[in-house]
Order: sequence, then C-alpha cells, then structure tokens
Amino acid sequence: MTIKLKIALYNTLLVSIIVCLVLAFMMSNSNIVINATTKNQLQFIVHENAEEIEWERGKIELDDVNFYENHITTLIYSYDGYLIEGFIPNIDAFVVPLSHGVVNEISIDGVSYFIYDYFVSHSRYDGVYVRGIVSVVEIFDSFETLFLITMYSLPIFIILAGLGSYFISKKLMKPLEKIIMTAQDISNGNELDRRIDLGSGNDEMHYLATTFDIMFEKLEKSFVLEKQFSTDVSHELRTPTAVILAECEFNLKDTSLDEKIDALKSIQYQAQKMQQLINALLNLIRLDNGIQKMHFEEIDLTELIAIVCEEHEMLLSENQKLIFEDNETIICKVDYAMFVRVLSNLIDNGFKYGKDDSFVKISLKKIEEDKILITIEDNGIGISEEHLDNIFNRFYQVDSSRTSKKNSMGLGLCMVKQIVKLHNGSITVTSKENVGTTFSIVL
Ligand code: ADP
Repeated sequence: MTIKLKIALYNTLLVSIIVCLVLAFMMSNSNIVINATTKNQLQFIVHENAEEIEWERGKIELDDVNFYENHITTLIYSYDGYLIEGFIPNIDAFVVPLSHGVVNEISIDGVSYFIYDYFVSHSRYDGVYVRGIVSVVEIFDSFETLFLITMYSLPIFIILAGLGSYFISKKLMKPLEKIIMTAQDISNGNELDRRIDLGSGNDEMHYLATTFDIMFEKLEKSFVLEKQFSTDVSHELRTPTAVILAECEFNLKDTSLDEKIDALKSIQYQAQKMQQLINALLNLIRLDNGIQKMHFEEIDLTELIAIVCEEHEMLLSENQKLIFEDNETIICKVDYAMFVRVLSNLIDNGFKYGKDDSFVKISLKKIEEDKILITIEDNGIGISEEHLDNIFNRFYQVDSSRTSKKNSMGLGLCMVKQIVKLHNGSITVTSKENVGTTFSIVL
C-alpha cells in the first residue's frame, strides 16, 4: 500500500473516531447542557420582556412584549396573581405560585417544564409578574433532530475527509516521487548529471532534495575523478611497459653485447620511472585515505627551510639561485618529513620550470597572531590563467610535451596540497606567463 493511501486511510479513521467521540460526548452530556442552556435562555427572554413593559397613565402597555420566542411562552400576571395577558394550553395545570427570581421545574402528564417568574415593580402603580414557561421536551426534540441529521450525514463527511486526505497527501508526496525517479534514473542508467532540482522552498522535501542533489554532485565528481585517475594511471604505465617489452623482444634475438647493455639501461630507466610513479601513487593514496600517520611537533620553520635550501643548493648549476632570507624564529606545529616534501617539491618545480637564469626565492613571515605565510617565488616560464585551477589535480600537466623531458608525472602539487590540508593550511598560486610563479602557503 502506498504512503499516500496509508495517510488517507489513517486520516479518515482518525476523523471518524473523533466525530464519533464528539457525538457520544454530546449524547451523554446533552441532559446537563440542554437543561443549563434552556434555563439561561428562559431567564434571558423573561428579563428582556420585563424591560419592554410600560405604564401609560396608570394603564399597562404590553405591545412590545414577545409572548412566544424560541419555544418560550410568556404570561403577564398582576401582582396578586391574576392573568393579564398571554396564553398556553392547559394553563390551569401550571399551579406553581408566583415567586420572583426562581426557576421551578414541574412535570405535567410526563412532560417537564421550566417556569421562571420575574416581578416588575413601578413607583406609582401596582407591579406585575412576567412568567416564562418552556417545555424541555421541545428543546430535546430539536436537539435530537439535529443529532439525527448529523448522524445521517456522517458517512458523507467521512468520505469527504478520506478524499481530501488522499488529494492532500498526493500533492505532498509529489516531490518525493520526483526524488525517487531521479535516484532510479541515476542508478539504472548512467545519467550521473541528473538532478532533482525541486526549486526554491523551505520545507523538509526541499531540504531532502537539495541534500540529494549535493550528494549526486559529489558522487558525479568523484566518479569522474576515479575514471580519470584509472585512465591516467594506465596511460602513464603503458609507455614504460611498452618500451620494456619492445626492448626485451628485440634483444632476445641475436644482438650485440653493446646493444644488450643499451637495452638493459633503457629497461632500467623505464622501471625506475614506473617505480617513481608507483611510489608517488602510494604516497598519495596513503594521504588520501588517512593511512599516512602524521607526527606533528613544534618545529622552528626558519631552521627547517634553511636546511632544505642547503640540500638543494648543492644540486644547483651556476646560473640557478636559491634565496632565503631568514630573520625571526617562527615555531610551528608541523610534520617534519612531510613539510620537507612540500618545500622540496615546490623548489624543484621552481627550477624545473625555470628559465636560463633562474631563481627561487622563499620567504617566511607571521601575518597574524596564529597565522604564518610561506611564499615560494620563481622567475620561470609561468602558468597561463586557464591552467591555474587545475595544476593541483592528479596527473595534471600544463604541457606534457614541455614537461616530459623534465621527469614529470603531474603528481607533485596534488601531494603538496594534500599535505598542506593535513596541516589545516591552504595553498594558493599566482602566476604570469614568462614572468614567474608564486605559491603561497598559509598555516
Ligand atoms: P610535475 O611537475 O611532476 O609535472 P606537478 O604536480 O608538480 O607535477 O605540477 C603540475 C604542473 O604544473 C606541471 O606539469 C607544470 O606544468 C606546472 N607547474 C608546477 N610548478 C610550476 C612552476 N613553478 N612554474 C611553472 N609551471 C609549474
């Protein structure tokens, strides 16, 4: 059974139960309620009529008195008990003596009546009594008629409640159907770019749809990245394996010793490339999955950068310069080995993509009480605007023909970004083609 139908059924059942309870309550308490309201009504009408009585030169005026209203009969008596005006069948049966301000109940031939008298005095003339009489049976009869009408129309109310609930729940469930259909489309086919897109709204359904859309977006992104990753890995491994196989095939034939040595060197180079790639990938996967344990310790960053620079300086050629002006001591909680990797990568890149006379300049400073900024600036070939957003992606190389000679894999910056992220920091890049590039790390 669908939720729509369930809601409609439960609602109808609830409405029916409530209506039955209300009717049962009305029935069981009708006596008390009817008696109380009838007495009130009786007193009200008698008082109203009493106010309408006037005396005109000693003569009583009863033109404005209402002698029959809402089942209540009004009679006017003189102060000593003679009926002046008003009529009720078998009037002689109402033998109750006149008594001001009291509601009496009498029974005549098994029928109950309420009687209420009210004395209207006058300063100069004799006063009169206004008597109101009402038959309780009459009131009960009209109540019973009303009750029966309600009982007979009950099934119509219940059907209307059922239909109303069904249409309301159908309308409410419409967005849910859209969510289900979109999720099914995504899981059945390959329509990863499908979205629910319910539009604007503040209810739970809109929140659910927006949450799903965000989830679908993330899933699509990670799916595309995974796909790209597998394609890139197989692409990167295909060339060295092809070279190794070709070299083996060729040298298994009758070739000279020199040729065999050359082939072995080539195989060794390709195997080293593969090993580097596999190591870099493993490092990345460890960082991505949080397998790589970080060992944070308070480290003097000025000293750390100076050590890294010293190591790199030994490998530089004459026209390459590595500049680091260390000034104040800045202590920061970092993972020593990881941070050396970050700096080494960025310094390497600075020279790898440098020009003939190249320099890499490192600066370190405090920018806020608990924030430090490290910049690594070079005067190299630079990166054009369109590539800047992508250089931190796995396997991204600005120009593979330009970078292939430089032992590049497109994994360095991705790893740098991951490590900085694990230090709760951020890395950004600014660059101008043929002018240079600056990487800024904030920790
Ligand atoms: P790799 O250097 O192994 O290709 P990276 O992830 O370190 O991988 O860099 C990605 C790409 O970003 C490089 O291929 C290069 O085109 C570009 N790049 C990185 N650093 C610099 C730099 N300092 N100057 C110019 N281009 C750079």
